[in-house]
Amino acid sequence: MAGLSAAAWSARQGRSVVLVEKGELGGSAKHAGFIWTAPSFEVLRSAVPDGDPRLQETLIEGFGPAVEWVRSLGVECQPAVEVLRFGRGHQTSILNYRRACELTLRQAEGCEILVPAEARLLLLEDGVERVAGMT
Ligand SMILES: Cc1cc2nc3c(=O)[nH]c(=O)nc-3n(C[C@H](O)[C@H](O)[C@H](O)COP(=O)(O)OP(=O)(O)OC[C@H]3O[C@@H](n4cnc5c(N)ncnc54)[C@H](O)[C@@H]3O)c2cc1C
Repeated sequence: MAGLSAAAWSARQGRSVVLVEKGELGGSAKHAGFIWTAPSFEVLRSAVPDGDPRLQETLIEGFGPAVEWVRSLGVECQPAVEVLRFGRGHQTSILNYRRACELTLRQAEGCEILVPAEARLLLLEDGVERVAGMT
């Protein structure tokens, strides 16, 4: 779902994207029912103290825009409720979201979905900073 979401978002920005998936589009997210995280950086730190603080900050900052992105595709997200021990999030239909991302990619010019297809090697430019392709 991380790759599919990034691909659909990039296609919406007018970028040219090739999505390569060896199994099923959306991966393990087909079992998910909520878009959720902790309500603040402090709560996330105390729930997951060993996590990378930079990534945790990005997660908290990006959560609101991510929910807006899902809604912008016409996928319903319910009002926020408490999730598990420390979280807050929105119930949604992940299958509808997966379909909306797939449609976005299929309808965008210069974008392609290769499934089933397996990437064997990422071709890097500038060390690990930039993925320039794959085989
Ligand atoms: C039962 C269950 C319920 C869950 N509920 C929730 C929930 O309500 N809310 C929530 O936020 N999270 C939930 N999760 C967790 C969430 O589903 C995962 O964190 C999320 O789906 C991970 O997505 P991902 O894209 O990072 O990884 P993955 O889903 O593992 O996706 C990786 C993809 O890459 C593909 N791939 C791997 N190697 C290659 C290769 N060489 N070439 C081509 N393709 C390749 C795989 O086939 C796969 O499709 C739940 C998980 C489970 C199991």
